[in-house]
Amino acid sequence: MNPAPAPDRRRISILGATGSIGRNTLDVMSHLGGRDAFEVPAITGMGNIGLLVEQARQTGAGFAVTADPDRYNELKSALAGTGTQAGAGPTALVEAGERDTDLVMAGIVGIAGLAPTLAAIARGADIALANKECLVSAGDLFTAAMAKSGGKLLPVDSEHNAIFQVLEENQRHAVERIILTASGGPFRDHTLDQMAAVTPERAAAHPNWSMGLKISIDSASMFNKALEMIEARHLFGMRPEQIEVIIHPQSIIHSMVGYSDGSVLAQLGVPDMRHAIGYAICHPRRASLPVERLDLAALARLDFIAPDETRFPALALARTAMRRGGLQGAVLNGAKEIALEAFIAGQTGFLDMADIVAATMDRLDDGRAAATIEDVYAADREARAVASSLLRKSA
Ligand code: NAD
Ligand code: MG
Repeated sequence: MNPAPAPDRRRISILGATGSIGRNTLDVMSHLGGRDAFEVPAITGMGNIGLLVEQARQTGAGFAVTADPDRYNELKSALAGTGTQAGAGPTALVEAGERDTDLVMAGIVGIAGLAPTLAAIARGADIALANKECLVSAGDLFTAAMAKSGGKLLPVDSEHNAIFQVLEENQRHAVERIILTASGGPFRDHTLDQMAAVTPERAAAHPNWSMGLKISIDSASMFNKALEMIEARHLFGMRPEQIEVIIHPQSIIHSMVGYSDGSVLAQLGVPDMRHAIGYAICHPRRASLPVERLDLAALARLDFIAPDETRFPALALARTAMRRGGLQGAVLNGAKEIALEAFIAGQTGFLDMADIVAATMDRLDDGRAAATIEDVYAADREARAVASSLLRKSA
């Protein structure tokens, strides 16, 4: 018989447990006491059933869900005898968000994470948010749901986590600007001609952070930073012109907040996602985390470079999306996904991605706002269809 669980274990479900954020979250949780400290009501994944099952065994998860409805039988038989219930498909994903917890790590990539995360918000859970597409595509709906729920929204994206750490709650009126740092990615010093010819393999090799494939390529094109500008607007209630981006190749300053008295507060650390994850899941307590300590003398210098928006047009597209508002964030994200998939498949060039996104945003700029999550899905579908047809025409 299993020993009775300690009554004060913190209950954390992990959406996207098998991904980069999910695996880092489980690593932090295991350093912070593992099953003695945490109860895991639900975990989710998609294609990697073997890893999902291993994670279920390690954590003693109550419910393990694959987003792929066709893998139910495989998951169920692999979980036989573990005490973990199996689930598959979109309804089970939402049920994973609904299972009672103190906090949910939203670590799914893309708008597939929206429904289960909103389900967790609806029952009042605190949300550690890595899944930035939730805010990019459905920022107004998401923040309204969060305000209604009374739960805390804890940013996991390293830049937003940094801002959260240095944003003085009682001084919000005095915030002039937030400054998102960007590494500049592997093509920071490339010319336009060189950038036009890069391959997906080169684009996926991030100089500082170890991340999933799509987010690594999005970092190289700075579409990741574009998403983060929109994410920051919704998280911190900023006007578009208050959000700045600076290239900082060392990725040591994770972001900054500028106040009306001229002070700029920064958060520093080694580039390791376990820092932001640990901060978010332990908030408001600071726990001892298994991250390397910063050695400033060894580092010697920190550099800053203004981003060149001719080579990184994604930044201007984020500003356009914020200015237009409504469903333009969802359109930007949906079109970007199609362009990114085409780039990964070798069907379009690195620089063409921004052209496809820009043209799709213009085509779907009709001033509509999202009243429901269905409106967000519809805008996403439309953006994908338009971007796909533009790609076919240019082929
Ligand atoms: P990843 O691709 O490594 O993992 C994604 C997870 O989502 C996996 O568990 C996968 O099974 C699941 N998933 C994928 N498609 C799904 C679908 N259609 N339905 C349900 N589940 C699905 O991605 P990641 O790098 O861990 O990123 C996750 C999120 O966190 C993204 O929004 C990313 O932008 C953000 N983020 C990641 C990092 C990082 O260091 N990896 C840093 C900051 C923010
Ligand atoms: Mg980030």
